[in-house]
Amino acid sequence: MIKEALLKQKLFFSSGRSRDLEFRRQQLVKLRTIVSGHSEKICQALRQDLGRAEFESYGAEVAPILEECKLALKNLHRWARPKRQPLPIYLQPGSARIHPEPFGHVLIISPWNYPFSLSLIPAIGALAAGNVVSLKPSELAPHSSKLLTELIRDNFDGDCFEVFEGDVSISQSLLAEPFDYIFFTGSPRVGKIVMQAASQHLTPLTLELGGKSPCLVDRTAELIPTARRICWGKFINAGQTCVAPDYLVVERAISGPLIEQLRICIEEFYGPNPRYSKDFARIISEVHYRRLQRYLGDGKILVGGQTNDEERYISPTLIRPSSLDTPLMNEEIFGPILPIIEVDDINESLELIERWPKPLALYLFSNRRETKKKFTEQVAFGGAAINDTVKQVGPAQLPFGGVGPSGMGQYHGQYSFDTFSRPKTVISRPTWIDPSFLYPPYADKLKWLKKVFR
Ligand code: NAD
Repeated sequence: MIKEALLKQKLFFSSGRSRDLEFRRQQLVKLRTIVSGHSEKICQALRQDLGRAEFESYGAEVAPILEECKLALKNLHRWARPKRQPLPIYLQPGSARIHPEPFGHVLIISPWNYPFSLSLIPAIGALAAGNVVSLKPSELAPHSSKLLTELIRDNFDGDCFEVFEGDVSISQSLLAEPFDYIFFTGSPRVGKIVMQAASQHLTPLTLELGGKSPCLVDRTAELIPTARRICWGKFINAGQTCVAPDYLVVERAISGPLIEQLRICIEEFYGPNPRYSKDFARIISEVHYRRLQRYLGDGKILVGGQTNDEERYISPTLIRPSSLDTPLMNEEIFGPILPIIEVDDINESLELIERWPKPLALYLFSNRRETKKKFTEQVAFGGAAINDTVKQVGPAQLPFGGVGPSGMGQYHGQYSFDTFSRPKTVISRPTWIDPSFLYPPYADKLKWLKKVFR
């Protein structure tokens, strides 16, 4: 069944239809129309899977998909156009063009935390670049996965864009097949499995992974906006955001006032009991809920710490870790728990943050120019925000991706188009002139060659 569907997609790509610019445009228009026309259903599915507020679902999923479509539609012609390149003198007369060539058959494997945008934004890039797409959404967000499948099946020709709903076994069956490109978003653990599977067919791939993204605050930061921006970035989607601040490092001089301000913020955002807030999401699964609950024992709770098993609710929590050797401080948290570490001087925390693998994001709240320069230049991270959190991911014009264990490759806007196509070089030379310089017998031609490349 899977093999048959994949074969049809391969044949469709070979037919050349998906390369046609007008065809690509039609797919993007269709995708935009479906997403904007079903935005309420999308938000409803997300409410069912994650208990997420409609505002967050629209802002973090529907809006970025529409933005991405808009940008691709506006620039498709320019991105897809072959680019001329001048040839060096020794290849004259002649011309060169670089053609953006679609890879062909693309497999996209997506996670559950932003199931629509993390499935469809890569798909927009892949379709814009002229590929055919097989999508495997996460089984952990079943309402979203079902709706995604319905929307795609009802509106797209499966030969061009197909969905394979199901659990890990479906993912494994797909990974056993030879694709031309794999785009995976998920955990570093599964990223390794995907990379291993890709290596069997020498398939190129992009890995969008996660990790522990630090958030640093020094004494020059303005308390109120700092607390609001940290709270928002950490607690949207109940902390289940790949670029959420994972842990906070704060200068001791302002840690007390900052913690108090964070407490005030949590109450302002979610009321005295966040369990009854319509704006605070739930944990996706029992396994993740139990994992997060265990972290609550890894330190002293400063704010929050309440849970409810039936609802898989964990309140926004601030915690002082008992040690850096706990699971809380060694695994990606991916939930509404924010450990706070105090240091005397933020400039001394470089060594501290380098205990963990290169992060997907780095956040720095400071008004010192030297500190900003030091952290942005000396630390390896996927992307950063100074005096803010998470917003670096938003604009479709900016590349998004990790580095090392937090990922490889990037996408969004033209970066997506470039990810899903490869530059194919074609040179063309007339035959009316054919100097014999390059041909044997070489005799004493070497000295001339040396002169040219001196
Ligand atoms: P996951 O790695 O468990 O699952 C991702 C996808 O892989 C799912 O579709 C799942 O069905 C499939 N999968 C799971 N196990 C597999 C296996 N053994 N073989 C083949 N396929 C398998 O990740 P998740 O729990 O869905 O998402 C959370 C993780 O994703 C976090 O680490 C987070 O940081 C990361 N993430 C990264 C980004 C990013 O853009 N960099 C975005 C969202 C989430």
